[in-house]
Amino acid sequence: MAQYTPPLRDMQFVMHEVLDVVAELKALPAHADIDAETINAVLEEGGKFASEVLAPLNQSGDVEGCKLDATTHEVSAPGGFKAAYAKYVEGGWPSLSCDPAYGGQGLPHVVNQSLYEMLNSANQAWTMYPGLSHGAYECLHAHGSDEQKSFYLPRLTSGQWTGTMCLTESHCGTDLGLLRTKAEPQPDGSYRITGEKIFISAGEHDLAENIIHLVLARLPGAPAGSKGISLFIVPKFLPNADGSLGARNGIYCGGLEEKMGIHGNSTAQIVLDGAIGTLVGEPNKGLPAMFVMMNGARLGVGMQSLGLTEVAYQNAAAYAKERIQMRALSGPKSPDKPADPIIVHPDVRKMLLTARAYAEGARALAMWTTLTIDKEISTRDEAERAECADLVALITPIIKAFLTDNAWIATSHCMQVFGGHGYIREWGMEQFVRDARINMIYEGTNTVQSLDLLGRKVLADNGKKLRKFGKLVSDFVEEEGTNEAMQEFVNPLADLGDKLTKLTTELGMKAFGNADEVGAAAVDYLRICGHLVFAYFWARMAKVALAKQGGGDPFYRAKLATARFYFAKLLPETAGLIRSARAGLAPLMEMDEALF
Ligand SMILES: Cc1cc2nc3c(=O)[nH]c(=O)nc-3n(C[C@H](O)[C@H](O)[C@H](O)COP(=O)(O)OP(=O)(O)OC[C@H]3O[C@@H](n4cnc5c(N)ncnc54)[C@H](O)[C@@H]3O)c2cc1C
Repeated sequence: MAQYTPPLRDMQFVMHEVLDVVAELKALPAHADIDAETINAVLEEGGKFASEVLAPLNQSGDVEGCKLDATTHEVSAPGGFKAAYAKYVEGGWPSLSCDPAYGGQGLPHVVNQSLYEMLNSANQAWTMYPGLSHGAYECLHAHGSDEQKSFYLPRLTSGQWTGTMCLTESHCGTDLGLLRTKAEPQPDGSYRITGEKIFISAGEHDLAENIIHLVLARLPGAPAGSKGISLFIVPKFLPNADGSLGARNGIYCGGLEEKMGIHGNSTAQIVLDGAIGTLVGEPNKGLPAMFVMMNGARLGVGMQSLGLTEVAYQNAAAYAKERIQMRALSGPKSPDKPADPIIVHPDVRKMLLTARAYAEGARALAMWTTLTIDKEISTRDEAERAECADLVALITPIIKAFLTDNAWIATSHCMQVFGGHGYIREWGMEQFVRDARINMIYEGTNTVQSLDLLGRKVLADNGKKLRKFGKLVSDFVEEEGTNEAMQEFVNPLADLGDKLTKLTTELGMKAFGNADEVGAAAVDYLRICGHLVFAYFWARMAKVALAKQGGGDPFYRAKLATARFYFAKLLPETAGLIRSARAGLAPLMEMDEALF
């Protein structure tokens, strides 16, 4: 079975030595009292919960899966999941970063995010239950009426009730404008909702007493397409005014999907049979409201992939030091043994270092992004708020797509390190690969994320948001311009920044001529941007490691070696990506549809 050790040292390195989160947070009135000891203690406890309670349930949850009782429509999660959720609630974990006005602890999002990394490393399928609830909490916090907030938020904050997002229907996933679920207004101000949703994560389960579904549906006469979608709260049990559970609502699980991974999470077909719901926000404005949940979830999916990359790396690294096979080409390295440990072989190291560089780069990017979200939420300076919002909007599709593509590569490499044993269930490595695959698909496929990045976030605002991130890069390059030791990092960073600027202009011109050029270049473009942000954070981490390596702590030596590996072996991928992005539409469209 796979093992997991929370990477607390690396988390503390990024938080305290690279990003100086305490100083940044203290500047915000909401977090003026925060200190490093509190953050470290919370993460240490969270890490214990992840490694001691959740990790032991990961493999058994995968094997057992969820079970639907076809008569009652109730779903039971795998053995141990319910008890683990009870412990999670008892420990107050759901409320960590929630608003104190609704019973939350008000800790910064950057702390909650790091907790989620560890929960996902330990058990992605389980973590989706509280993860979806937190998304529902954020959506209602932003768009619910005062009455809805005071009723639902305390129960989501405590974890007493969980939440879902019900968007997808069998004929519409990416294109939600096609959705058909109907909501009929009732004389008492409520709505009767009828339709069928599919693929609803955590859509039915026995972990909590009630489930609050956030459902997208159409009102009578609503405009066609995405401008005619409204958002509704549809509880599994209709609550009484005091919060006690009333009648069973007409929303139930009609079936569970059989799927490739995350077997411990129930992916439910949800039938709405005249279910009673209440409108959230304005009629026909449901999609923008749901975007709060979707954007949060996109960052959350990035955390799922970071978590899987980290745990897969840990296990592969341990195995590579133990497993002996063949001799090093340059001669025996462990002459006392019948063969050398496979970690002596350069390509095994390449696979391990790829996973490590992706995990540590992702951690730095994710923490910086969540710190930026904390600033966006809590600063009193409107200009700073707008700046942070722009940066987060730009980075969100990169976190979703780049981190999830990387996790697919990394978990596959880590499985490969185990040879045939990686393919066998016992070791747990093939589960990481299977679990990682969905992250590239849901919450908007990675193609859709690239279109969002290049089309909406970059070209539609004439590169304004991109220039904001570019300014961080150029300031850093300038600061380090005379630091000889940093040239190996800042030169390729500056070079990629220049190339990306030129490529963006070129693609903008092409897109004027034919908008399909955006679709032809977008996936390559996002990956180039992903590498630019990784190169920036790897350079910042290298700077700290260079300054501290003299103290003899091997942590900094490892950090520098990983940074050098990243710049030498992973960043050069961008040369091919730029060529491919430049190749444009023609090679994709030349062949007639009939010839496919
Ligand atoms: C395990 C699992 C859990 C899920 N959880 C939830 C959930 O909790 N709630 C929920 O509402 N949904 C959920 N989903 C649904 C998920 O978000 C959708 O499957 C996803 O958004 C893609 O939609 P689709 O499957 O209909 O694919 P389609 O939209 O049919 O897309 C098919 C292919 O076409 C591509 N494509 C589509 N449009 C374009 C375009 N304009 N340009 C280029 N390419 C395009 C896509 O990238 C994809 O490769 C889940 C799905 C799964 C499998």
